[in-house]
Amino acid sequence: MTAKLIDGTAIAEAVKQEVAAEVQQIKKEHGLAPGLATVLVGENPASKAYVGSKQRACAELGMASIGRKLPASASQEEVDGIVQTLNADPAVHGILVQLPLPGHLDEEKVLSAISLEKDVDGFHPLNIGRLSMKGRQPWFVPCTPAGCIELLVRSGVEIQGAEAVVLGRSNIVGLPVSMLLLHRNATITICHSRSRDLPGICRRADILIAAVGRTEMVKGDWVKPGAAVIDVGINQKWVAHPADREWTCDATGETFIAHRADESEKGGRRKMGVYCEDCDKVYLKDHVPDDCQDCDQISLFRKYQLVGDVDFDEVKEVAGYLTPVPGGVGPMTIAMLMQNTLRGAKHALGLI
Ligand code: NAP
Repeated sequence: MTAKLIDGTAIAEAVKQEVAAEVQQIKKEHGLAPGLATVLVGENPASKAYVGSKQRACAELGMASIGRKLPASASQEEVDGIVQTLNADPAVHGILVQLPLPGHLDEEKVLSAISLEKDVDGFHPLNIGRLSMKGRQPWFVPCTPAGCIELLVRSGVEIQGAEAVVLGRSNIVGLPVSMLLLHRNATITICHSRSRDLPGICRRADILIAAVGRTEMVKGDWVKPGAAVIDVGINQKWVAHPADREWTCDATGETFIAHRADESEKGGRRKMGVYCEDCDKVYLKDHVPDDCQDCDQISLFRKYQLVGDVDFDEVKEVAGYLTPVPGGVGPMTIAMLMQNTLRGAKHALGLI
């Protein structure tokens, strides 16, 4: 059997188009653009890239984006102060504090300070608490888990009555996605690092959600034939060194050969280069233009490939439905964030 691929990029695009249409309507009828505020503390490149892509999504959908940046040395009071200011700002309908925060900051305190009505990440303890209780509705559902459910629903996978196994019990994925499946009347088993006989438990699943952060852990013989498998994992896997080739820097015109950081040849032609996916340009690492700093850049020396928690090649021969990595759950996370921000604006306007 070959699994039907669940195209997360296409489904995320459909969700975003629905959001954009509602944004236009709200602007027309109420003269207000839903606004997402992002708070970035420090210079973590991955965090900068995530915040950049969220801001670009806002622009794409006609939403307002309010960016707040603080140095890595920012105090707890400064971060809390920014959150309080954004809580009080009527132009802000969602607040996203990019995690992880520098180690000296109390993450839980910061997340708890976000107003419940603006907690678009859905990580406020009260939102998670409501999600875990029967008959209670959270203001917002965390984006990645909500994205997993949307992928299943829009692919026509029956959740009610299904046996669902969730690998992982983290606060941001495993636990909330389990609660969402339970609310939709699946029978849930939650597995973790101390669970015995993972392959045996997984083989019972009609729906298998893998969120463990372990490279290609779920093998073909862990999967029930025809099951729907959602791969949340994002892992880096070593792949072969690409053949050396010459590149030309789009900023300086200099030609060079890309290589790994630890193989630096000062003064030679082997230099660190990056490819900017957004601009479709190649730059020497030290000559990336300022307006490109927040874009998605990939090392020209592609030493890693992104893979999931599921062994794609094996599982696609057994499963009925399967999400690829990349292009599965990943794009849904931002789409659901946009949907949550729209929800925040609708609530502020008294529309829901
Ligand atoms: P996490 O906080 O590290 O939690 C991992 C969970 O997996 C824990 O519950 C852990 O068990 C369990 N686990 C780890 N190794 C295991 C093993 N060998 N067998 C069974 N269970 C094991 O990770 P996370 O934040 O939930 O993220 C999980 C994966 O999803 C990561 O690859 C992450 O990058 C990815 N992710 C993707 C998105 C997206 O947008 N696509 C968003 C968020 C996360 P214990 O509780 O016992 O330690």
